[in-house]
Amino acid sequence: MLIKGGLVLDPANALQGRYDLRLKAGKIAALGPELSAEPGEEVLDAQGLMVVPGFVDIHVHFRDPGLTHKETLASGSRAAAAGGFTSVVCMANTKPVMDEPELVRAFYKRAAREAVVHVYTVAGVTRGLAGEELTDFAALKAAGAAGFSDDGNPIPSARLMRQALEEAGRLGLPVIAHEGDLSLVADTIVNEGTAAARLGLGGMPAAAEDIQVARDVLLAGLTGGHVHIQHVSSARSVAIIRAAKVRGVPVTAEATPHHFTLTDEALLTWGADAKMNPPLRSAADVAAVRQGLADGTLDAIATDHAPHTPTEKAAGLAQAPSGIIGLETALGLTWTELVQAGVLTPAQAVAKLTYLPARIVGLAKGTLRPGADADITIFDPNATWEVDPARFYSQSRNTPFAGRRLTGQVRYTLVGGRLVYANGTVLEKEAFA
Ligand SMILES: [Zn+2]
Repeated sequence: MLIKGGLVLDPANALQGRYDLRLKAGKIAALGPELSAEPGEEVLDAQGLMVVPGFVDIHVHFRDPGLTHKETLASGSRAAAAGGFTSVVCMANTKPVMDEPELVRAFYKRAAREAVVHVYTVAGVTRGLAGEELTDFAALKAAGAAGFSDDGNPIPSARLMRQALEEAGRLGLPVIAHEGDLSLVADTIVNEGTAAARLGLGGMPAAAEDIQVARDVLLAGLTGGHVHIQHVSSARSVAIIRAAKVRGVPVTAEATPHHFTLTDEALLTWGADAKMNPPLRSAADVAAVRQGLADGTLDAIATDHAPHTPTEKAAGLAQAPSGIIGLETALGLTWTELVQAGVLTPAQAVAKLTYLPARIVGLAKGTLRPGADADITIFDPNATWEVDPARFYSQSRNTPFAGRRLTGQVRYTLVGGRLVYANGTVLEKEAFA
């Protein structure tokens, strides 16, 4: 296939301009101005569109195995394709939990059959994500774990986190940390602030997150192990990570579209569809997260795509599970809230959706260099559209962005040189197998 006439943006190679791309045998075979079609070559017209490396989301929940009433490898990977993501990393809080090598191996076998994009998984830091006993990191790495995370559950003890960073550091993998001292949660996982007070809830202060971020960057400095901080939501956490990076601590961090877009005021409109962990916080926190993305303190954008059924979300703010889906709104929110708002350049935004997250978990993805896998996203940076959850490929609908107008829309997603999404439709696997 020849992708012709698009504006190519490949931040990993500081490349930006009008180039054509030739794909052969699943790889990028050539990149140059004005390549002409060879006999029999399919041509994809990318005039007016941006051609970028396929997006990489290092934080998703596909709920498979065990919680497939919320999402499956099949539905989650189709949502990824529709959102322009060609590689995703699943969290370990499935049922059973990903804490044994056989489970990880079985996961990859099924993903190869059922998913339409590249799907990876982390393994739990602790058995059962119970925060007590470390899993067998070496065996889990050999089975294909992309890192270690108890995401959903903060690691309760500093001693355990130290051991995890030492172990993972020896293996060259990150400990991926969900931060929040749960002893500081009053009753419900919402931000302790005026919105919670109006709802009659106690909430959770930003300090709960900050305390563990501070602890873990200190432990990363002590051990030399790489800690990756997930879904940073508070201004103080951004400042702690910034200072740690200046000292040379091996720390990376991500922000979600919801944390750079919404404040806890969204709870008043959206109820449980604006409940996530860590919670939405104040306008000052949102501004700090944006600043952290702009100055490189926050390396990556990750969605924390967290599907739940309407029934589960209807249980009321206090009872409903935390989390929202994010794969199909990520590009639109990034483009509208960060690029159009002047927070990030297009190249910075694409970098945070491609090679920077890939590098955190050691995936050789996120570039259009000839020889690289032909995982490619093509989007219209000027198309404006309205979020309609009824059209999502995700099995779930829990989003506070329904009805929102966004600019930036995915047109085509290619995985290994094959179209898996084109103009609103995920192509069924048989069609490209
Ligand atoms: Zn989390």
